[in-house]
Amino acid sequence: MNTQLPQGRSPALPVLAASLWMASVGNAPLWRELDALGVLSGRSGWLLAFSMAGVLAAALFALLSLLAWRPLLKPAIAFLLAATAFGAYFMWTFRVVIDNSMATNTLQTDWHEARALLTPQLALVVAVGWLLPAWLVWRRPIAYGPWKSRALRNTGAAAAGLLVAAALILLSFQPLASTMRNHKHVRFLLNPLNSLYAFGHSAIGEKRRPPGVVPLGTDAKLMAAAGKPPLLVVVLGETARSGNFGINGYGRDTTPELARAGVATFRNAWSCGTSTAASVPCMFSNLGRAAFAGRERDSENLLDVLQHAGLAVLWLDNQPGGCKGVCDRVPTVNVSTEKDPQLCAGGECLDGILLKGLDQRIESLPADRRARGVVLVMHQMGSHGPAYSLRSPPAFKRFQPECASSHLPDCDVAAVRNAYDNTIAYTDHVLASTIAWLRGRADYDTAMLYVSDHGESLGENNLYLHGLPYAIAPDVQKRVPWITWLSPGFEQRAGVTTACLRGRADGEISHDHLFHSVLGLLRVGTAAYSRGLDAYAGCAAP
Ligand SMILES: [Zn+2]
Repeated sequence: MNTQLPQGRSPALPVLAASLWMASVGNAPLWRELDALGVLSGRSGWLLAFSMAGVLAAALFALLSLLAWRPLLKPAIAFLLAATAFGAYFMWTFRVVIDNSMATNTLQTDWHEARALLTPQLALVVAVGWLLPAWLVWRRPIAYGPWKSRALRNTGAAAAGLLVAAALILLSFQPLASTMRNHKHVRFLLNPLNSLYAFGHSAIGEKRRPPGVVPLGTDAKLMAAAGKPPLLVVVLGETARSGNFGINGYGRDTTPELARAGVATFRNAWSCGTSTAASVPCMFSNLGRAAFAGRERDSENLLDVLQHAGLAVLWLDNQPGGCKGVCDRVPTVNVSTEKDPQLCAGGECLDGILLKGLDQRIESLPADRRARGVVLVMHQMGSHGPAYSLRSPPAFKRFQPECASSHLPDCDVAAVRNAYDNTIAYTDHVLASTIAWLRGRADYDTAMLYVSDHGESLGENNLYLHGLPYAIAPDVQKRVPWITWLSPGFEQRAGVTTACLRGRADGEISHDHLFHSVLGLLRVGTAAYSRGLDAYAGCAAP
């Protein structure tokens, strides 16, 4: 039997070519970052870059060699080229890195939200970085030979790849190790291994916890209080950064309506995560940031506890991506696909849609629960990027010129900031309109609490969007607005005054406080409540 492979048709060549392409061009964001960190200067710098590219190429070569079987190899190369091209585009354009939380967030993003990311630049990267090299590989006939010799050759090639990688690591161990130690985020730039690791880890992590949820706060009871039943609106903000709110001291008056509405603001509030998928479930949990990440089981959340206490709960959502599991056991309405000609003209709805027909929505909740009180959660589209200009209607585009592109580096930083500030100006209006509606509900003692899920980078240090690993994310991605409005009746029943809250505007709080603060405000008694984590407790009678 002839085991000789025809000349030039061995899989080794396309495997090597694809590996070199991904390790070099595909890692442009890595080289840019290393250059910016100043570690590429001089001869030792170039040696380091050469070693890193070599290690990457050798590792990819080893991986692909193991997959060098007839039905596998070409799809595997095409897949890795795609992961490399998409990863490189997003890391290059938005200066993000690809880690577990970014992967979880991406897996939970729906197509509707992702449309804004489809830009001509992305199309170009896909064509040149993925489709063209994939086509070159695909059209090339490859002779694999009999399976026994194939297995031998694949194992040998993979071993050779790993040996080369190990030798390069040893050769440049000192600079390599110190770079990885001093700049921990660099590991999340190693394309496409970062995506393989993060998406794999994220998919396994979802499976690791047993299905189902552990009950929480089943002992919850409304404590007796004078006055009418409470009606609390919790507005869950999106991508709003604390520092861009006029009432928090921003140089621009982005929040004139809230300033007139008599609210109290906590200016020193910190998020649980830097993305929606990381923050939202954590915010409504009783565990707090540290314990939530390491939880063994999923358990019920704030909304379940409020229901156990007999309150009527309704989740209104203007995000196509929904509530990330938080509202699974409470009545939910997603308004993001409404057909309102004014508010939903572009296929997505402005947040004003959340306020339409609120009275009827309240009426539709069970009467016996309504008699005890109502909690309405409104999940905003808020300042969701990168298409900030879609989040505000013309009347609120006060800051001009505004960036209208989803490819943010196309615009100068000032125009990006203008577009973003217009979204805050519109959120100001939505929140003030919510308060106006609450003032009109004379049948309840009313209150509003507004907290955003995370902040945003707007081009500072050339960073955009959000989602950097918490430990290295800049503060602007982690500082969130936390704004409270209490009607006089609600102040009485909660025993908390706006004046007292204003005196505590700079006290440090975080999303860890949300669960306990809402229970405290509504005077819900349960063993799950912790007074030490109630942001309002310092202003409440014990
Ligand atoms: Zn978010």
